Amino acid sequence: MKWKEFVLKNIIEYCNRIGSRTFSLSDFTKDKKEVFRLFKPDNKHTEAKIRQQLQFLRDDNVLSFLDNTGHYTLRGIDLLEKEKQEIHSLDISKETPERKEYLVETYVRDVAWAKKARNIFGEFCLCKNCNNTFIKDDGLRYIEVHHIIPLCKGGEDALWNLSVLCAHHHRMAHYSDIRTRIQLEKFLLKEIQCRL
Ligand SMILES: [Zn+2]
Ligand SMILES: [Zn+2]
Repeated sequence: MKWKEFVLKNIIEYCNRIGSRTFSLSDFTKDKKEVFRLFKPDNKHTEAKIRQQLQFLRDDNVLSFLDNTGHYTLRGIDLLEKEKQEIHSLDISKETPERKEYLVETYVRDVAWAKKARNIFGEFCLCKNCNNTFIKDDGLRYIEVHHIIPLCKGGEDALWNLSVLCAHHHRMAHYSDIRTRIQLEKFLLKEIQCRL
């Protein structure tokens, strides 16, 4: 196996394990140090080699990263294993990337990125004066987790880009006219910044 394939295989494994498509390069290399050492025992510059492969993967549009944060987001696969399990009754394979993302956000409950957002931002819609909520069978409140900037447009599975919305406002964020969508996006980015 070549370096690039090997690095990608390990990124997919790592993202599945942490339950997020966005990961920090330093955590990833720390976690996989031994794996990469065993892959090419003679290579003395493993970290540089990995960074170079990440660059190649970015050129292939498999990864993306925002400058200077040391975080990468995996794009090459559509769903993480846990997401697949949670929405197994839906066939979203033919959906457009944006619609797919909306469906994942709406149905996935238990993956790491959704849990993280609920823990930090709570279980009430972030829109001003919105009291749209109900209690589910399990006694918890219903809330949906939304990527403010869609992953397919360069957003990340990271807290700065996550928010919690009621079902109505979540639909609005995806399906309203462009002006309303941009307004809501700006509002949420600001709101999240204040809460972090
Ligand atoms: Zn959404
Ligand atoms: Zn709402």
